[in-house]
Amino acid sequence: MLLNLFDTHAHLTSEQILPHLKAVLLRAEQSGVRKIVNICTDPKTLEEGIALSEQYPWVYNAAATTPHDVEEEGELFLPLVEKAASDGKLIAIGETGLDYFYEHSNKKVQQAFLLRYFSLALTMKLPLIFHCRDAFADLFAIADNNYAAAPAILHCFTGTLEEAKGVLDRGWYLSISGIVTFKKSQGLRDVAKYVPLDRLLIETDSPYLAPQSHRGEQNEPSFLSETAEIIAGVKGISPAELAQGCTDNASRFFQL
Ligand SMILES: [Zn+2]
Repeated sequence: MLLNLFDTHAHLTSEQILPHLKAVLLRAEQSGVRKIVNICTDPKTLEEGIALSEQYPWVYNAAATTPHDVEEEGELFLPLVEKAASDGKLIAIGETGLDYFYEHSNKKVQQAFLLRYFSLALTMKLPLIFHCRDAFADLFAIADNNYAAAPAILHCFTGTLEEAKGVLDRGWYLSISGIVTFKKSQGLRDVAKYVPLDRLLIETDSPYLAPQSHRGEQNEPSFLSETAEIIAGVKGISPAELAQGCTDNASRFFQL
């Protein structure tokens, strides 16, 4: 029996996937993936994403400059994200946030764009998708002052159990990627076990982070079932129940 899956985070219009997109979407459907949120990070991926969801109504778009690129590209892309949001082409703003691990953009610039995306999300009444690496204290503090009690997903969560509690305390959803399938990821499996089923999402983050049995390959939404199976195992429930719970959460969060 196919699982009922919702991939809440994939970069379908990235240059890695775009040339094979038709086959990737066919395999996704065949593996039980019923909906995908495509993450657009620049003008080209946004334009392609909008065209894609016209052709495939079960693919939805979110957009923002990633924290890595805000210093160089943030200013240019923001008006296009605003336009797409006000035209009703987006179901969320993101991924935005803070990445102090790589710090490809200056921390202050990352924080400044995070604030601008908060106000855009609030104005457009759209939820946010956060990327956060080695920056939870600042993300929590800045959100508490500027985005309190507003809807968000912490995508590709790789933090500690304490940080997971901080995410849940703020009412956000916590999304887990194929990293949870890696042998070394016991800490993340502990987080997956801890997070209540009604606050959990799953994602591939394609084309990155292929799960254990596909390591070294380009990741794609059809690999999502492996993540569902591993999390179901640590939670002691069936993959079908896990997948359905996460899909219901995503549908509720994105109002689909
Ligand atoms: Zn991403």
